[in-house]
Formats: sequence, structure tokens, C-alpha cells
Amino acid sequence: MSTIHNFSAGPCILPKEVLKEASEAVKEWNDNGLSLIEMSHRSKPFVAVMEETRALTKELLGLPDRFEILYLQGGASLAFLTAAYNLIPEGGSAAYSDTGTWANKSIKEARHLGEIEVVSSSKDSGYNNIPATPKVDPRHSYFHYTTNNTIFGTQYKGIPTEAGVPLVADMSSDIMSKKFDSSPFQLIYAGAQKNMGPAGTVMYAIDKDVLGKTGRDIPSYLDLGVHISKDSMFNTPPVFSIFTTLLTLRWLKNLGGVEAIEIRNNAKAELIYGEIDRNSLFRGHAEINSRSTMNATFMLKDESHKEAFNAAWAKAGVSGINGHRSIGGYRASMYNALPLESVAVLVDVMKEFERTI
Ligand SMILES: *Cc1c(COP(=O)(O)O)cnc(C)c1O
Repeated sequence: MSTIHNFSAGPCILPKEVLKEASEAVKEWNDNGLSLIEMSHRSKPFVAVMEETRALTKELLGLPDRFEILYLQGGASLAFLTAAYNLIPEGGSAAYSDTGTWANKSIKEARHLGEIEVVSSSKDSGYNNIPATPKVDPRHSYFHYTTNNTIFGTQYKGIPTEAGVPLVADMSSDIMSKKFDSSPFQLIYAGAQKNMGPAGTVMYAIDKDVLGKTGRDIPSYLDLGVHISKDSMFNTPPVFSIFTTLLTLRWLKNLGGVEAIEIRNNAKAELIYGEIDRNSLFRGHAEINSRSTMNATFMLKDESHKEAFNAAWAKAGVSGINGHRSIGGYRASMYNALPLESVAVLVDVMKEFERTI
């Protein structure tokens, strides 16, 4: 079997050893005599999986005790709504930044629940940068932003505490990729399928002290307080997704945790962006100081080279680098599990392509 270098944007690459252990558990899990996916989620072994996943998430992210970790369903797309439901009081408002497709969707959902002021946007420049964050009107419950814009390849480099109100963030595509200071945050959420595990579950890290203050009658599944009171087992959790996420988190911990992976992620990003800037055939999409370490977006300067370039990378075993349909070009997604060697293969293809075209 030849090696595939998987640059898919999501669902995406997982560590080989995680895939092996997860697939074995689907056949038979430990000495339970059963498959992981044919056992009760209330069984002792699975309850232990849920508890370890929640605890390890907190440990790896360095979150203090005010945070509760939940693994629920509905993806980040439902979290757009859940965030607003739990944090904007009846008749209240919140501030949002508009930095791309996912940010847009978060704004749309939040508008079901309150007045949303878009206080910063990079829409006019084709979402190729991270706009400055202004000081936000203190009447707003929070400032919401997307830490990493998966489609456009831009990423907040610091934490926008300039907003001056509590922060809420969609960290779907850069969670667990680098260290950050959690103190300004009330809520962080992230779909597992970009950097933590397979599709099917979304992680919430919620400051439990801020819940229950909206005056709203929140439907049970959308009420994060309900999920906390049930230890993230209000209803049947997506057992396979959570188990495989746990294996991925254990893999990360063994490697040295978020601090160690951050160094690797920076090295991968340096390698690809170095080549994008050096190579006369390509240009990057994102402004240099807004570039994402997770998703590098770039274009051919001359579109007539497209077919030949596509053939060249496919031949080298590179997979999943076609850009999102909304911006075209290419996108190399370099999540935690992608080895530096895969980036080196892509860079070699780009170099060789320039030499031979
Ligand atoms: C993929 C993605 C989403 C959507 O996640 P779902 O789990 O499919 O709902 C939201 N936000 C960001 C930043 C993403 O990358």
C-alpha cells in the first residue's frame, strides 16, 4: 500500500495507532466480550471512557475548575445556537466577529435569540485577514469569534481581550493545536472532527457559573446546565466518536501535550508558507500576519497550470488539497496528526513543479 498524505480539511487525518485501536474496539473491546458499539453507554467501562475524556480534555487545555466539559451531538453548527441560548438573556444582545463562512453561520443562529452586533469583519477583503477587535459595548453579553477560519485559512494570533467583555469561541479547527490562556472565556466549543477525533461529537467547555441566568425556558437538549447535571449523559452519547476522541487525546498526551504539538504545528506551517512565498508559481490567499497554522490556502498564479499541478500532487500520494468551493485554489490542512514528512512531500512537489513546468 502506498502512503497517502492526507491534507483533508475535515473529517481528516487521525493518528494511525488511534485508527488501529479504535477498529479493534469495534470488533471486540478489551476483555468485555463485546464490541464498544454494542454495549450500554451506562455500563461501567463506557462511563469510565466518558469521564476520562472529559478530564483529559480539561487537563490538555489547562482549564481551571470553573469549566465543565461536555461531549454532545449536533456539531459546532448546533453549538452556534446553544451558545446564544445559554448566554444571551431574554431581550439581550451579543457582539460577533465575521471572519468567514462559519462565523457567518454562528451569527445567523445567534440572531434567533437576541440582537447581534457584528463589530468586526473581513468580508470586504474576501476574508483574507483577521480584523482588529474594537472595544465592545458593555451591554453585550459576550464577544464571539472563530479562532481559526478553516475555509479561508486565517487565524487569530492572540486572544481578543480588547473586546472588554467575556469571550465565546468556536475553536473547531484549532483546538488542541496550541496553548492559550482560558481566563477571558465563558464558553469554548469545537466539533471533534477537525483536530480531536472523528465526526459525531462536539466538545463544550463551559464556565458553569454563568449558566442559568438568561431567564429563558431552554429546551432540555439545548440547556448546557442539564447536560452538566447528567455528566454529559443526558441521552445516549455518540459512543464511538467519544471513544476515538479519547484515544486521540491520549495520543496527544503521550506526545507531550499541546505544548509539544504546537512546536510541530509551527514547523509544518513554516515549511509550507516558506514554499508558497518562495515559489514563483503560487501565491497565498491569507494576509501574512493572519495566516493559519492549520489550514494553508494558496493559489496558482496561472490557472492554466492547474491540470498539470493536480496530476503532480496526486501522483505523489497527496490527497485532499483542493480548496473549498467558495474560494477555489488549494488548501493544505495540517492538523495535529499530519506528520511533517507529509508537508515535506507536498513542498517537494511544488518545487519540482516549478523546475519542470
Ligand atoms: C467544520 C467547522 C464547523 C462546522 O462543524 P460541524 O460539526 O459540521 O457543525 C464550525 N466551525 C468551524 C470553524 C469549522 O471548521
